[in-house]
Amino acid sequence: MARRGLLLVISGFAGSGKGTICKELMKQYDNYAFSVSATTRDPRPGEVDGVDYFFITQERFEEMIKSNELLEYAQYVSNFYGTPKKYVEEKLQEGKDVILEIECQGALHVKEIFPEAVLFFVMPPNVKEIYNRLKGRGTETEEVILRRMRRGQEEAEVIEKYDYLLINDDLQETVQRLHDTLNSARNAASRNKELLSEIKKEFITFFEEHQ
Ligand code: 5GP
Repeated sequence: MARRGLLLVISGFAGSGKGTICKELMKQYDNYAFSVSATTRDPRPGEVDGVDYFFITQERFEEMIKSNELLEYAQYVSNFYGTPKKYVEEKLQEGKDVILEIECQGALHVKEIFPEAVLFFVMPPNVKEIYNRLKGRGTETEEVILRRMRRGQEEAEVIEKYDYLLINDDLQETVQRLHDTLNSARNAASRNKELLSEIKKEFITFFEEHQ
């Protein structure tokens, strides 16, 4: 029987480099599957529909909520973002570790539904760096950048609820740390309930045969 995959949730301040970390993780290892979210925001230059996001209308998004197609969703600045449920279920079943790159509200909701999910929060070395990275990307107006900075300040309040922090100072090192940490988390007793109940059953069978 193939083991079920783990849910790997990655959040981080805007401009923390979490997108690049996920891409690099996918490139280097083949045990991961990336969950493409649905969003009502407009594509940025270079973003591809179905690869970076499913870019959909507000009406379609509401329809997905109603028909229970989303695992979780949240509003971020002025747009909606959500995780399509079907892909996640399928890949976990196939034994893949599924990456959800989502914001805090969604992440904490996922932790409620899937307590075995492993939550990482990516941070640049300091706050100034967040602003510089957003500015450097050149894809948002100053107003949107400031709203994203404000959201970052709010997110800082809930980071303690995450399982692990990832300070992204060097990309390759960060990717390695993430991969290694997930593999350690996989061995946590609380994430191996099926195996543990098997062992208990085997003890019962053993004593049935040895009395
Ligand atoms: P961006 O517009 O920069 O691509 O994403 C804005 C924020 O939305 C990021 O923090 C990103 O992680 C988050 N996000 C992307 N997809 C989802 C999703 O499906 N659900 C939730 N809750 N957040 C998402």
